[in-house]
Amino acid sequence: MSPTGKPSKKLAEVNGEICGICQACATVCPKNAIDVFEHYIVILPDKCNGCGTCTKVCPVEAIELVER
Ligand code: SF4
Ligand code: SF4
Repeated sequence: MSPTGKPSKKLAEVNGEICGICQACATVCPKNAIDVFEHYIVILPDKCNGCGTCTKVCPVEAIELVER
């Protein structure tokens, strides 16, 4: 646990060239850290806790966890 209270040093990152904007990740994200726009999605670093839930539901494996 870091001083900021974040439980993980991981951060979800989306590959916009693969993402089909199906919104599955945004629906399951427990931190509401994924914003969906018409042509892309955005993962908010300040909200994402690196839980990895989004990576498991993405049908095209467009999200991966990276080190902060
Ligand atoms: S890793 Fe967890 S908190 Fe971060 S965007 Fe994915 S589901 Fe949300
Ligand atoms: S689940 Fe995958 S394809 Fe669907 S919006 Fe999220 S990143 Fe894009």
